[in-house]
Amino acid sequence: MITRADVLLLNQNYEPLNVCRLRRAIVLLGKGKAEMVENGMGYIHAVTQVFEIPSVIRLVYQVRRPIPTRRLTRRELFLRDAHQCQYCGTKTRELTLDHVIPRVRGGKHLWENVVAACTVCNHRKAGRTPKEAGMRLTRLPKPPPASPYYPFLPYLERRDEWRKFVPISRKH
Ligand SMILES: [Zn+2]
Repeated sequence: MITRADVLLLNQNYEPLNVCRLRRAIVLLGKGKAEMVENGMGYIHAVTQVFEIPSVIRLVYQVRRPIPTRRLTRRELFLRDAHQCQYCGTKTRELTLDHVIPRVRGGKHLWENVVAACTVCNHRKAGRTPKEAGMRLTRLPKPPPASPYYPFLPYLERRDEWRKFVPISRKH
């Protein structure tokens, strides 16, 4: 769940690294391992001190990490295929997930073997391969490009002050 207690952690070069909880952010700040970038939320009043509540913090040193890849879900698949049937090209909200090589024929549930298909094409293809069904894919399915920004996109609606660190384009 996305809450106000989520803090965006930036790498030293300002690239988003991950989302941490407020408690961890305060520890990182307290130890001097990170510095405040955005205070979106006001102050914490403790007994003897007043702390700023961070919204975005930045590590004072650079860390390496792998670029995250997208999970294969219906939502991500339809985004990859631009809400278009990959057989007839129809743009529709009524899309289904089609295994190019059907699962019963050993087709894997992988980006390379799944496409968005309209209900008409899905029906027509049924349990067959495209070749058997006399159908053609409009393009070869492959994994969407990995992006360092991908995991942060769901937060942007709630956290305006994060936008300048996370380019919004869904194409990333
Ligand atoms: Zn179709």
